[in-house]
Amino acid sequence: MNFKFIRNEIISGNASVKEIINDYFSKIDDLNTKINAYVCITRDIAESQALEIDKLIQNNEQLPPLSGLPIAIKDNICTKGVVTSCSSKMLKNFVAPYESTVSSKLWSSGGICLGKTNLDEFAMGSSTETSVFGVTSNPWDINRVPGGSSGGSAASVAAGLCAAAIGSDTGGSIRQPASFCGVVGLKPTYGRVSRWGLIAFASSLDQIGPITNTVSDAAEILYSISGKDPYDSTCLDKPVPNYIKDLNKSIKDLKIGIIKECFDHPGLNSEVKESVLSGVERFRTLGAQIIDIECPRFNDGIATYYVIAPSEASANLARYDGVKYGYRSDSTSNLLDMTSKSRAKGFGDEVQRRILIGTYALSAGYSDQYYKKAQKVRTLIRKDFDNAFEKVDILLTPTCPTTAFMKGDFVNDPLSMYLSDLLTVPANLAGLPAISIPCGFDKKGLPIGLQLIGNVLEEHRILNAANIFEIDAEVIKNKPFF
Ligand code: GLN
Repeated sequence: MNFKFIRNEIISGNASVKEIINDYFSKIDDLNTKINAYVCITRDIAESQALEIDKLIQNNEQLPPLSGLPIAIKDNICTKGVVTSCSSKMLKNFVAPYESTVSSKLWSSGGICLGKTNLDEFAMGSSTETSVFGVTSNPWDINRVPGGSSGGSAASVAAGLCAAAIGSDTGGSIRQPASFCGVVGLKPTYGRVSRWGLIAFASSLDQIGPITNTVSDAAEILYSISGKDPYDSTCLDKPVPNYIKDLNKSIKDLKIGIIKECFDHPGLNSEVKESVLSGVERFRTLGAQIIDIECPRFNDGIATYYVIAPSEASANLARYDGVKYGYRSDSTSNLLDMTSKSRAKGFGDEVQRRILIGTYALSAGYSDQYYKKAQKVRTLIRKDFDNAFEKVDILLTPTCPTTAFMKGDFVNDPLSMYLSDLLTVPANLAGLPAISIPCGFDKKGLPIGLQLIGNVLEEHRILNAANIFEIDAEVIKNKPFF
């Protein structure tokens, strides 16, 4: 259910917030064993939040903007008093002592916390298969992955187990699962949204954003969670525009750049290509100007990302030493042995692989060859985008080279898994906002996503174009399980 529908129910008195969330909880009871989208349900919190909003309604008081909307939070975002596990054995028993800025903004805007969603361990992955809680299923075909790392968030929205979910996106983890699950996923500009309380993966890339049923729901959430935060010095002190206001503006004469390199890539599935190109034609019919753009470094994004992200991860994950918090091995021989055994047993294979790659790339003698070189290529990628935005307003690509793949397809083939981030990582490397919206289905009935990338802090432009497209195309007529 989208926000509009739920809001109407509540405001018209058709249903109380308590009744709405009870409906969601019974759906979760029915489906979560199949989908495994939630790793933890926060019924007590939801019930007391619902009571507050129901009281405001009874007393005819003014309602905050997200009043009564049931929201799920990716389990790498701290929620006070609730386990925040990162889907890792390392943090399986970690109860967050504080609330993240994003979630506290949602609750003070009237949102209701339904629970925490599954992810690839420490948000490293593209399939939600590396979670200590087991794999999440794609609601469109439960034998397939939902994408990752915010697979639990995307699957919970697609299966109707929440009205919206929050994800994090370091290299595509909001947009790629949104694309695989046929929902909307928005990664904001780097610094638009506070990361206070997000468990760090790669700090120069991480952003938090919404996964929703509709573009306008994403705009509403973005509006509520954006803005300066004294707890996060990387968070921008820039005014937050009303993202909802311009959603329906005509896109006549909007200049959309088509990144040639993406469409020429041999890894791009032909059905995905065809569907996204028909999306391009729809934009043309809606009055946009379509312009071919060259971004010669776009396809170098993946190699660049897979040096920078593991390097930063190796530094960020150094804090899990078995001493301060997290899993501790029972080794008693000495401190070094205890620490190394805690890390070897507490982290899964993919996380250890990233720590090893990152430590190697940063080590004396190799950092010029790998890390510094990657930083230089990152600057070139950003320059390509800067040049492109001199000619066009927004850019368009497919979100992913393929539709959802089968569970197990790439678990033993990390390089192929990494390739599924080909089209999403450049926006993270350049710090740009990007959104994935459904644009069609392949012959197997699996959703296909189209990505719009905007210039820095131009979320309003991509949201506007995405909204006009969504209304015109009506891609998702029936949801899975309905
Ligand atoms: N799939 C990418 C990775 O494995 C992106 C992850 C993310 O955005 N958190 O690193």
